[in-house]
Amino acid sequence: MKRWIAFLTIICSSLFSSLSGCAQVIDRSVPGALNLRQVVIRAGVLIDGESNSPRRNQVITIRGNRITDVSDAASARIPDGAEVIDLSQATVLPGLIDAHTHIFLQGEDPAEGGYDIQLLKYPLALRAARATVSVRRALEQGFTTLRDVETEGAGYGDVGIKMAIEGGYIPGPRLFVATRAISTTGGYPLEGYAPEIEVPKGVQIIDGPVEARTAAREQLDHGADWIKVYMTHRSWVGKNGELVSQPTLTVEELRAIVDETHGWGKKVACHAYGGEGLQRGLDGGCDSIEHGLALTDAQIAQMIRQGTWLCATLSVYYIDWAPADTPEGQRDRKRASEHEVSFRKALKAGVKIAFGTDMGGIPWSEPIAQEFPRMVEFGMTPMQAIQSATSRAAELLEMKGRLGVIAPGAYADVVAVSGDPLVNVKILGNVGFVMKDGKVFRNELGVKR
Ligand SMILES: [Zn+2]
Repeated sequence: MKRWIAFLTIICSSLFSSLSGCAQVIDRSVPGALNLRQVVIRAGVLIDGESNSPRRNQVITIRGNRITDVSDAASARIPDGAEVIDLSQATVLPGLIDAHTHIFLQGEDPAEGGYDIQLLKYPLALRAARATVSVRRALEQGFTTLRDVETEGAGYGDVGIKMAIEGGYIPGPRLFVATRAISTTGGYPLEGYAPEIEVPKGVQIIDGPVEARTAAREQLDHGADWIKVYMTHRSWVGKNGELVSQPTLTVEELRAIVDETHGWGKKVACHAYGGEGLQRGLDGGCDSIEHGLALTDAQIAQMIRQGTWLCATLSVYYIDWAPADTPEGQRDRKRASEHEVSFRKALKAGVKIAFGTDMGGIPWSEPIAQEFPRMVEFGMTPMQAIQSATSRAAELLEMKGRLGVIAPGAYADVVAVSGDPLVNVKILGNVGFVMKDGKVFRNELGVKR
């Protein structure tokens, strides 16, 4: 009996020490806990994500993982025992949101095997390990939320990465994931192999409304927060010098997906360049158009009528152009020039625009914030560009008031830069302070008191 007690004591103490070891890693904030930590941030300038003007000398009070108060420094009451982070020499903003990423892609450098090698030769564990680096990179740059719009053949890996972040095992942004994405036969790589060889595809292939609905159900069942659909695939310069893109799903196929997804209270993001495929996307009820390179005036009017979002991803169309004297090179240049015209028209007409980059298509070693100056170059004010990556993107994600804003009730996702991004928006590429969910992840600016 005594031996048993001794044995149980050893088991319990080793279990306890391993559990307490875990607790250091999994430092969850429990809503309603009595001992929620209070943190106060002194902001020299506050761009709150929603207001059109910055405010000077503000005090942000945080309890646990939520913002509880934002006040003028002169009238603010600092709670007893609160930790103070002094960002009075910095500009403070809400954590940034990139609404179009691919954490499972790594830039598809042809010298490293391009897209195909990811699916043909890399074990999923390697791809997941690299995705772990991608999400860390995003958080380091102040992007505390990503809408990750498909895993490019890595199945439900994004759901796993999201669980790892939420469990506290790895650092990373809040993820809204789309899992596998959907296109049709002939509508997605891998392609160009002998017809006798069956190769994996970067998306789930469907043909017909029944398969379309089944795919949406499967993806939603396995944890998709959004459904991603490819409404166009190949693109080229047409006979009259116009940008042409191959349509994929029919309106009936898309309607089955949209109907199913909306029934689950979720939304559908549609990759569409222009033409017939984009038109089917709008007629089928897409919630967001991704890229939207060649929008007609009538399509812009339809987007406004239907409340469709545009996630333009400008920067990715300015890298890796093929030589100018090749059909691909002409296509690449046409895509960029059409895109600028579409973006300017959509902005002027008042289409809802959310910040998105297509990171993953761009190597994760590159700066995410490169999209800001591109948006400003094409007509946005710096404040509009910032709002597209804060309150507007939060609205797209149906997280208005909880993400993308520094206000009472919002999650404590806070970043800071030194200098004024309203004067020089490129400053957003140098985020020096990152707090996510009330926990400081990076601090090169704030003095702790
Ligand atoms: Zn993409």
